[in-house]
Amino acid sequence: MSTQVFETMESNVRSYSRSFPVVFNKAKGSYLYADNGNAYIDFLMGAGALNYGHNNEYIKQQLLAYMADDSIMQGLDMFTIAKGDFISSFNDLLLKPKGLQYKFQFCGPTGTNAIEAALKLARNYTKRSNVIAFMGAYHGLSQGSLALTSNQYHRQVAGVGLHNVTFLPFENGGPAGLDSLSYFEMMLEDTHSGIEKPAAVILESVQAEGGVNVASAEWLRSLKQICEKHGILFISDDIQIGCGRSGDFFSFEQAGIVPDIVVLSKSLSGYGLPMAMLLIKPELDIWQPGEHNGTFRGYQLAFIGGKAALEFRRDTGLEAAVKQKAIYIERFLKEELAAADERIVIRGRGLMWGIDLSSFEDPLLAKKVAQQSFEDKLIVECVGRHDKVIKLLPALTIEETTLNQALDILQRNINANIRSRASRKAALA
Ligand code: PMP
Repeated sequence: MSTQVFETMESNVRSYSRSFPVVFNKAKGSYLYADNGNAYIDFLMGAGALNYGHNNEYIKQQLLAYMADDSIMQGLDMFTIAKGDFISSFNDLLLKPKGLQYKFQFCGPTGTNAIEAALKLARNYTKRSNVIAFMGAYHGLSQGSLALTSNQYHRQVAGVGLHNVTFLPFENGGPAGLDSLSYFEMMLEDTHSGIEKPAAVILESVQAEGGVNVASAEWLRSLKQICEKHGILFISDDIQIGCGRSGDFFSFEQAGIVPDIVVLSKSLSGYGLPMAMLLIKPELDIWQPGEHNGTFRGYQLAFIGGKAALEFRRDTGLEAAVKQKAIYIERFLKEELAAADERIVIRGRGLMWGIDLSSFEDPLLAKKVAQQSFEDKLIVECVGRHDKVIKLLPALTIEETTLNQALDILQRNINANIRSRASRKAALA
């Protein structure tokens, strides 16, 4: 199929298709297949919506069986077997073993809708309007969530003021020595700080779109302590770094903290089906019926997929496998790939990694590497300030040979660009 129909008929707002301008048709595991037969290794994985790989066989069988049986597909938020089974499995397989107690709130099926719900709840519970977010954050693009998203490119089209949010630098997000948590405490304690006490702090413990910026366990614990001391709710946006991406199911587990609200979406349904929910501490559940309503707050197939995903995770030992792969990929990136040039900076956790090329003179270096990698049949995205960080988001189920192939492509293209610049300089000298 030609790309013309999209280029002429689809709104200019389309984005990913500009970096990967081929027509895709099929997908399996870590591979996307274009209609011309080319196979691409997928390191974008539906921006984190496909942690279990494309068309995961186990999950697919559960979905097919459910549909074959004429089971209910649209149930608004009524009681259904699919929803009941999902809640019970999530509780039995994840929450109880981790000693967590949360109530489930199913939201409209996008991440941004769940963020809106979290904001409403936090503001209504605390009767405060201000919220703390972090520079580099991405929490969605609807009005409330956009106010929490720091990128000017997205904010400038809001058309209205984006208020009631105060941004702080993320850990290591400013000049050396800048301690945003001390500043935060000062804001709260100084009666002349001029900043309203916030309802909540919201953060991604690894900022994904912001450039793969990783918060340390200590920093997260300190932030949580400040929140507790001042009665501020702690909201963990686990939409991209959650569902096993960090190694644990939840990104905050490593820090041993328990957020007041957890926001999940993307890989929650296990199959790339739309689904989003909040986990809320029971005492915060002050909602009145239907206050955050929505037609698709209960996509039954997503419940089936979500339950199957948890079973797949348990039965295949996925968590241990991800932790192993994380060690492997970190070693390769830090000791081999970054060894080529001291300006290459590597950051990440679990199976989300960033290759930061912002210290190089060429502002388009990361973009070029991603583009050349696409020509070499690897799909990889650039994120962060001015898109200078290559974000690696493989399927959690990726096989070692595929992982190695993808890492080789990246290494080759980075080296080729650095070398060609070095050799041009030498030739000029
Ligand atoms: N939060 C985070 C951390 C995200 O990565 C995203 C999506 N990239 C969102 C929120 C918004 O989710 P959605 O695109 O489904 O609205």
